[in-house]
Amino acid sequence: MDTETISEAVTDILKSLPSQVAVVAAAKSRTVEEIAAAIRAGIKIIGHNYVQEAERLLTVFGKQAQWHFIGHLQTNKAKKAAVLFDMVETIDSARLAEALNRRCAALHKIMPVLIEVNSGREESKSGVFPEELDDLMRELSGLSHIRVQGLMTMGPRFGNPEDARPYFRATKEAFDRIAKMNTPGVEMRTLSMGMSNSYKVAIEEGANLIRIGSKIFGERQ
Ligand SMILES: *Cc1c(COP(=O)(O)O)cnc(C)c1O
Repeated sequence: MDTETISEAVTDILKSLPSQVAVVAAAKSRTVEEIAAAIRAGIKIIGHNYVQEAERLLTVFGKQAQWHFIGHLQTNKAKKAAVLFDMVETIDSARLAEALNRRCAALHKIMPVLIEVNSGREESKSGVFPEELDDLMRELSGLSHIRVQGLMTMGPRFGNPEDARPYFRATKEAFDRIAKMNTPGVEMRTLSMGMSNSYKVAIEEGANLIRIGSKIFGERQ
Protein backbone atom coordinates (compact mmCIF):
# COMPACT_ATOMS: atom_id res chain seq x y z
CA MET A 1 0.00 0.00 0.00
CA ASP A 2 1.29 3.50 -0.72
CA THR A 3 2.38 5.57 2.24
CA GLU A 4 -0.20 8.31 1.66
CA THR A 5 -3.09 5.83 1.92
CA ILE A 6 -1.59 4.36 5.10
CA SER A 7 -1.24 7.81 6.58
CA GLU A 8 -4.86 8.69 5.81
CA ALA A 9 -6.11 5.39 7.22
CA VAL A 10 -4.23 5.96 10.50
CA THR A 11 -5.51 9.53 10.77
CA ASP A 12 -9.10 8.42 10.19
CA ILE A 13 -8.92 5.61 12.73
CA LEU A 14 -7.24 7.72 15.42
CA LYS A 15 -9.78 10.50 14.94
CA SER A 16 -12.69 8.11 15.35
CA LEU A 17 -11.59 6.49 18.62
CA PRO A 18 -12.72 7.28 22.16
CA SER A 19 -9.83 8.70 24.19
CA GLN A 20 -9.34 5.57 26.34
CA VAL A 21 -8.72 3.31 23.33
CA ALA A 22 -5.19 2.72 22.01
CA VAL A 23 -4.26 1.16 18.67
CA VAL A 24 -1.76 -1.58 17.97
CA ALA A 25 -0.78 -1.57 14.28
CA ALA A 26 -0.50 -5.28 13.39
CA ALA A 27 2.55 -5.26 11.14
CA LYS A 28 3.15 -8.87 10.08
CA SER A 29 4.49 -9.05 6.51
CA ARG A 30 4.60 -5.25 6.11
CA THR A 31 7.61 -3.37 4.78
CA VAL A 32 9.80 -0.87 6.61
CA GLU A 33 8.32 1.93 4.47
CA GLU A 34 4.76 0.94 5.32
CA ILE A 35 5.48 0.76 9.04
CA ALA A 36 7.38 4.06 8.94
CA ALA A 37 4.33 5.73 7.36
CA ALA A 38 2.07 4.41 10.12
CA ILE A 39 4.42 5.68 12.84
CA ARG A 40 4.69 9.10 11.19
CA ALA A 41 0.90 9.31 11.09
CA GLY A 42 0.64 8.75 14.84
CA ILE A 43 0.83 5.01 15.57
CA LYS A 44 2.54 4.49 18.93
CA ILE A 45 2.40 0.70 19.26
CA ILE A 46 3.48 -1.89 16.69
CA GLY A 47 2.26 -5.46 17.10
CA HIS A 48 4.15 -8.37 15.63
CA ASN A 49 3.50 -12.09 15.33
CA TYR A 50 7.04 -13.18 14.54
CA VAL A 51 10.03 -12.71 16.81
CA GLN A 52 12.59 -12.81 14.01
CA GLU A 53 10.83 -10.23 11.82
CA ALA A 54 10.29 -7.94 14.79
CA GLU A 55 13.96 -8.14 15.69
CA ARG A 56 14.89 -6.87 12.24
CA LEU A 57 12.33 -4.05 12.43
CA LEU A 58 13.51 -3.02 15.87
CA THR A 59 16.97 -2.35 14.55
CA VAL A 60 15.33 0.15 12.17
CA PHE A 61 12.73 1.75 14.43
CA GLY A 62 13.97 1.13 17.97
CA LYS A 63 12.02 3.18 20.50
CA GLN A 64 10.07 5.19 17.91
CA ALA A 65 7.24 2.85 18.87
CA GLN A 66 6.37 0.36 21.58
CA TRP A 67 6.43 -3.27 20.51
CA HIS A 68 3.76 -5.80 21.44
CA PHE A 69 4.07 -9.48 20.69
CA ILE A 70 0.70 -10.69 19.35
CA GLY A 71 1.54 -14.05 17.77
CA HIS A 72 1.82 -17.52 19.21
CA LEU A 73 4.96 -17.51 21.37
CA GLN A 74 6.95 -20.71 21.55
CA THR A 75 8.92 -21.21 24.75
CA ASN A 76 12.16 -21.50 22.77
CA LYS A 77 11.58 -17.92 21.55
CA ALA A 78 10.92 -16.54 25.04
CA LYS A 79 14.50 -15.36 25.43
CA LYS A 80 14.40 -13.12 22.36
CA ALA A 81 10.86 -11.97 23.12
CA ALA A 82 12.02 -10.89 26.58
CA VAL A 83 14.68 -8.69 25.04
CA LEU A 84 12.61 -7.20 22.22
CA PHE A 85 9.07 -6.56 23.39
CA ASP A 86 7.38 -4.07 25.71
CA MET A 87 4.36 -6.33 26.17
CA VAL A 88 3.44 -9.93 25.34
CA GLU A 89 -0.30 -10.12 24.63
CA THR A 90 -0.53 -13.86 24.10
CA ILE A 91 0.35 -15.76 27.27
CA ASP A 92 -1.66 -18.98 27.12
CA SER A 93 -0.06 -21.32 29.65
CA ALA A 94 1.77 -21.33 32.96
CA ARG A 95 4.68 -23.03 31.21
CA LEU A 96 5.10 -20.18 28.73
CA ALA A 97 4.71 -17.58 31.48
CA GLU A 98 7.38 -19.31 33.56
CA ALA A 99 9.79 -19.43 30.61
CA LEU A 100 9.26 -15.73 29.90
CA ASN A 101 9.56 -14.89 33.60
CA ARG A 102 12.91 -16.68 33.79
CA ARG A 103 14.24 -14.83 30.75
CA CYS A 104 13.02 -11.46 32.02
CA ALA A 105 14.55 -12.08 35.44
CA ALA A 106 17.92 -12.63 33.77
CA LEU A 107 17.52 -9.23 32.09
CA HIS A 108 16.27 -7.52 35.28
CA LYS A 109 13.20 -6.57 33.30
CA ILE A 110 9.55 -6.74 34.30
CA MET A 111 7.33 -7.65 31.35
CA PRO A 112 3.68 -6.59 31.19
CA VAL A 113 1.61 -9.45 29.74
CA LEU A 114 -1.96 -10.17 28.72
CA ILE A 115 -3.57 -13.59 28.88
CA GLU A 116 -5.00 -14.82 25.60
CA VAL A 117 -8.54 -16.11 26.02
CA ASN A 118 -10.06 -18.64 23.62
CA SER A 119 -13.44 -16.97 23.91
CA GLY A 120 -14.94 -19.04 21.08
CA ARG A 121 -13.82 -22.30 22.71
CA GLU A 122 -12.44 -23.47 19.37
CA GLU A 123 -10.02 -26.41 19.53
CA SER A 124 -8.05 -24.93 16.64
CA LYS A 125 -7.37 -21.62 18.41
CA SER A 126 -4.82 -20.85 21.07
CA GLY A 127 -5.67 -19.23 24.36
CA VAL A 128 -7.17 -20.50 27.60
CA PHE A 129 -10.85 -21.13 28.16
CA PRO A 130 -12.55 -18.54 30.39
CA GLU A 131 -13.08 -21.05 33.20
CA GLU A 132 -9.34 -21.87 33.26
CA LEU A 133 -8.39 -18.26 33.92
CA ASP A 134 -8.82 -18.22 37.70
CA ASP A 135 -6.30 -21.01 38.29
CA LEU A 136 -3.85 -19.57 35.76
CA MET A 137 -4.01 -16.14 37.41
CA ARG A 138 -3.14 -17.67 40.77
CA GLU A 139 -0.20 -19.53 39.24
CA LEU A 140 1.10 -16.43 37.48
CA SER A 141 0.70 -14.05 40.41
CA GLY A 142 3.79 -15.56 42.04
CA LEU A 143 6.06 -14.78 39.09
CA SER A 144 8.21 -11.78 39.93
CA HIS A 145 9.23 -10.63 36.44
CA ILE A 146 5.96 -10.65 34.56
CA ARG A 147 2.91 -8.53 35.42
CA VAL A 148 -0.50 -9.63 34.27
CA GLN A 149 -2.28 -6.49 33.08
CA GLY A 150 -5.31 -7.82 31.25
CA LEU A 151 -6.76 -10.10 28.61
CA MET A 152 -6.56 -10.47 24.85
CA THR A 153 -8.86 -12.38 22.52
CA MET A 154 -8.98 -13.01 18.78
CA GLY A 155 -12.59 -13.74 17.89
CA PRO A 156 -13.53 -14.39 14.27
CA ARG A 157 -11.60 -12.31 11.74
CA PHE A 158 -14.10 -12.32 8.88
CA GLY A 159 -17.83 -12.22 8.41
CA ASN A 160 -20.40 -10.02 10.05
CA PRO A 161 -18.74 -8.05 12.91
CA GLU A 162 -21.85 -8.69 14.99
CA ASP A 163 -20.88 -12.37 15.04
CA ALA A 164 -17.84 -11.39 17.11
CA ARG A 165 -19.88 -9.62 19.78
CA PRO A 166 -20.58 -12.69 21.99
CA TYR A 167 -16.84 -13.53 22.02
CA PHE A 168 -15.96 -10.00 23.11
CA ARG A 169 -18.72 -9.94 25.69
CA ALA A 170 -17.56 -13.24 27.23
CA THR A 171 -14.01 -11.90 27.43
CA LYS A 172 -15.15 -8.67 29.10
CA GLU A 173 -17.12 -10.71 31.64
CA ALA A 174 -14.00 -12.73 32.44
CA PHE A 175 -12.01 -9.49 32.67
CA ASP A 176 -14.42 -8.00 35.22
CA ARG A 177 -14.59 -11.23 37.21
CA ILE A 178 -10.80 -11.46 37.49
CA ALA A 179 -10.50 -7.79 38.39
CA LYS A 180 -12.77 -8.48 41.38
CA MET A 181 -10.56 -11.37 42.55
CA ASN A 182 -7.83 -8.87 43.49
CA THR A 183 -5.10 -11.43 42.93
CA PRO A 184 -1.76 -10.03 44.17
CA GLY A 185 0.39 -8.91 41.25
CA VAL A 186 -2.54 -9.04 38.81
CA GLU A 187 -3.79 -5.67 37.67
CA MET A 188 -6.58 -5.75 35.12
CA ARG A 189 -6.30 -2.63 33.04
CA THR A 190 -5.96 -3.66 29.39
CA LEU A 191 -8.55 -5.48 27.30
CA SER A 192 -7.16 -6.17 23.82
CA MET A 193 -9.83 -7.21 21.35
CA GLY A 194 -11.07 -6.26 17.92
CA MET A 195 -9.38 -6.18 14.51
CA SER A 196 -10.03 -4.26 11.28
CA ASN A 197 -13.38 -5.90 10.75
CA SER A 198 -14.63 -5.87 14.32
CA TYR A 199 -12.98 -3.11 16.34
CA LYS A 200 -16.08 -0.94 16.62
CA VAL A 201 -18.05 -3.80 18.16
CA ALA A 202 -15.06 -4.61 20.38
CA ILE A 203 -14.95 -1.05 21.72
CA GLU A 204 -18.69 -1.14 22.42
CA GLU A 205 -18.02 -4.29 24.45
CA GLY A 206 -15.22 -2.69 26.48
CA ALA A 207 -11.95 -3.04 24.53
CA ASN A 208 -9.36 -0.37 25.28
CA LEU A 209 -6.70 -1.82 22.98
CA ILE A 210 -7.50 -2.76 19.38
CA ARG A 211 -5.21 -4.50 16.89
CA ILE A 212 -5.55 -3.21 13.34
CA GLY A 213 -3.74 -4.61 10.30
CA SER A 214 -5.52 -4.52 6.95
CA LYS A 215 -7.48 -1.34 7.64
CA ILE A 216 -4.16 0.49 8.01
CA PHE A 217 -1.92 -1.37 5.58
CA GLY A 218 -4.35 -2.92 3.09
CA GLU A 219 -5.17 -6.60 2.62
CA ARG A 220 -2.20 -8.93 2.96
CA GLN A 221 -0.96 -10.62 -0.19
C1 LIG B 1 -3.07 -9.89 11.87
C2 LIG B 1 -3.58 -9.73 13.26
C3 LIG B 1 -4.45 -8.69 13.59
C4 LIG B 1 -4.98 -7.70 12.58
O1 LIG B 1 -5.88 -8.30 11.70
P1 LIG B 1 -6.61 -7.44 10.56
O2 LIG B 1 -7.84 -8.19 10.28
O3 LIG B 1 -5.65 -7.39 9.41
O4 LIG B 1 -6.87 -6.09 11.14
C5 LIG B 1 -4.86 -8.59 14.91
N1 LIG B 1 -4.44 -9.45 15.86
C6 LIG B 1 -3.62 -10.45 15.58
C7 LIG B 1 -3.20 -11.38 16.66
C8 LIG B 1 -3.16 -10.63 14.27
O5 LIG B 1 -2.33 -11.66 14.00
